[in-house]
Amino acid sequence: MTTLSVFKACGGGYVGTGHVHPAVLDAARETLAQAKADGVVADGYVARCGDDVALIVLHDEPPGPSRTARLAREAFARCTAAGRRLRQHLASSNGAPVVEAAEMRLTVRPSEPVVCFLADKAAPGSWNLHLYRIFADPFNTPSLIADSPMRAGFRFTVRTGDGATEDAFDLPDDLYRLLATATGSPASVVSEVRARASGEPAAAASMGPDPALLVRCHDGLPSVGEALEAFAFPYAVAGWHGAYAGPLVPVSANDDMATRLDGPPRAIGLGFQVTEDRLIGPRDLLADHAFDEARRQAHQAADYLRRHGPFPPHRVREAGAGVPLTPPV
Ligand code: MG
Repeated sequence: MTTLSVFKACGGGYVGTGHVHPAVLDAARETLAQAKADGVVADGYVARCGDDVALIVLHDEPPGPSRTARLAREAFARCTAAGRRLRQHLASSNGAPVVEAAEMRLTVRPSEPVVCFLADKAAPGSWNLHLYRIFADPFNTPSLIADSPMRAGFRFTVRTGDGATEDAFDLPDDLYRLLATATGSPASVVSEVRARASGEPAAAASMGPDPALLVRCHDGLPSVGEALEAFAFPYAVAGWHGAYAGPLVPVSANDDMATRLDGPPRAIGLGFQVTEDRLIGPRDLLADHAFDEARRQAHQAADYLRRHGPFPPHRVREAGAGVPLTPPV
C-alpha cells in the first residue's frame, strides 16, 4: 500500500502574512530532494498557498508518526531557519512551526486522480461544507445517484480540534445528525470520508487552521469535476486567525497571495495522477475561467463583509470557528 501525505506549515510570511519568500520554498525543496535520494519518500512536491508551505509526499509508511513525518518537521525547521535569516514575518517569534497533516493510505488504482486543496487565512473546519457538497449532495455530485456503488453513500468522520472526540456518520442515513454535529460546534472538523461500499478512503483533511484537503476521484468516487464543483460558490469561512469571516475564494496557484485586510481567505486545487512511486502533476485546477464568476461573487461578498469592520458578521467572536456565521454561545 501507498500513503499520500500533505504536511503544511508557515516558515515566515513575505511580506507580512501574504506570501512565501523563494528561499523559504527552496529550503523545503532541498530537504525533499535529499529525502528522495535517501529513499525516505518515493516522490514529492513542494507547494505554496499564501504564507504557508505544503509538502505533498508519496511514501510507504502508515499515517501518523513516521520517518516521513520527521522529514516534514525537518523541512519546516529549515524553512523557518531560512525565514529567520531573512527576517520573515513571525519566523522568529513562533518557535518551532506547527505542522498540520492530511494523510490517506491507499491501494493505488490503475488510474488514481487526487486533488490536493490548500487554504490560507481560513479557520479549522473550513472544508466541512465543501465535503458535505462533494460526498453527500446530489445537486453538487449527480453520480451519488447515477453511480450504483456511490448510492451506498459515504462515511464521514468528525473530530474535535483537540482530538478529544470522534464520531462517525453513515450518509445519507445520518445526514441530519452529521449536519447538526458539523455545524453545532466551531471545533468540529470533518477529518475523513470513506466509501461505504468499499471502505476505501475518499478524502482526508487536516485539523488545524489554513487546512489541507486530499480528495480521491472517479471509479466509485466523485469525479474531479464534482470535487471542483463545490468551489463554484465562495462559501464564507472564519478567516484570518479565525477572527474575521470572509469568502473562501477559489484561485490559481499563482494568485494565492493575501493582500486586502490580509485576506480574503483563499483556496488552491492541485490535481495529480498518482502512481505507486510518482506524483504526476500538478495541474492548477482552480485556475480555470469556470471559477471566474465565483471569484467575482467572492470579491463582492468580501466588500460587503469588510465594511462591517469590527462588527459581526465580519468579526467572528469565537476564534477558530469552522462555521463562522453560527452565533456565539
Ligand atoms: Mg497561513
